[in-house]
Amino acid sequence: MHLFSFRSPPYTGPLIKKMFETFATGLYSLDTMIELTDQWGLTNRYKKLIVRTTMHRVLSNPFFYGCFKFHGEIFEGSHQPLISKGLFDKVQEVLGERTKPLTRHRKFTYSGLIKCGECGCFICGSMFKNDRYELYRCSLRKRHIKCSQHKYINKSEINRQIGEQIKNLTINKMVYSLLMENIRSRNEEESKIHINGLEHWNRIEIHCEERISRLMDALSEGMINKEEFLQKKNEIITQKIEAKEKTRFHKTSVGAWHKYAENLIIKSSHIYEIFSEGDEADKKSLLLAIGENFRLKNCTVTFDLKPPYNFVEAVNKSSSNLCVMRGQGDLNP
Ligand SMILES: [Zn+2]
Repeated sequence: MHLFSFRSPPYTGPLIKKMFETFATGLYSLDTMIELTDQWGLTNRYKKLIVRTTMHRVLSNPFFYGCFKFHGEIFEGSHQPLISKGLFDKVQEVLGERTKPLTRHRKFTYSGLIKCGECGCFICGSMFKNDRYELYRCSLRKRHIKCSQHKYINKSEINRQIGEQIKNLTINKMVYSLLMENIRSRNEEESKIHINGLEHWNRIEIHCEERISRLMDALSEGMINKEEFLQKKNEIITQKIEAKEKTRFHKTSVGAWHKYAENLIIKSSHIYEIFSEGDEADKKSLLLAIGENFRLKNCTVTFDLKPPYNFVEAVNKSSSNLCVMRGQGDLNP
């Protein structure tokens, strides 16, 4: 671990945490992350910009959730974890998606993302008039199905239609208070769950410690060999870390709704901005993070929002109905 050494200046920690949290949203590509960290002033120890490979290495280093690997063995570090294992796992998930080769779809944002609403094939893009127009339609690959979706749609029109739906996530003051209220009332029921969770994971943590000490006895008495010991120990350490983390999670969860609500609101407010100003990779990452079931039929694109964004949209819609009822008209700019 020489990238951000143990003796790193104190500002590095929060920035690395911010980097994990930001990437975990799934809204940003690795390249955009590099730009962001540059803006935040995060550099390597030679005061140089972080490059793609470094970014990847840092984002997949278990060191930051309090562990380290040595000769394949996982050790619980004595250092304070910067991030939770849950956040680390989420980042690994997003990393997996990001580093998948985009193969032949690289050039076309919407190939491999939107399916034909009639036959279920992916739509495909083509360039026309010396690359001036990027047009899409059903790839008509399923020969045994007769599909009538032959008409092309312009990429700018797809952008416009998706943009319109994403605008529904822009949050105004009224929605802000409704969302906060809603999340708060849901959280009251949850606090009971956290108290039970805390007890449960505490017990597991203690149990893990007991198992490790029994395992050490077994090794010293020659009942198991070194290899069996290491394998079992790695398993238990992983469980113990999970338990520790769940305990921490439940402890901090009381009142965490506030942070969650604020985060969600901040994220949601940026979505339209990222979509309209980001590059192609950003657009695609963003759409994969917030939506699913992208379909094109009769030149109309539809999709479903994933949670919690579907919730934001629903609250937004109910608030605009409320405004109409009160004769205030549409509050959205
Ligand atoms: Zn089709």
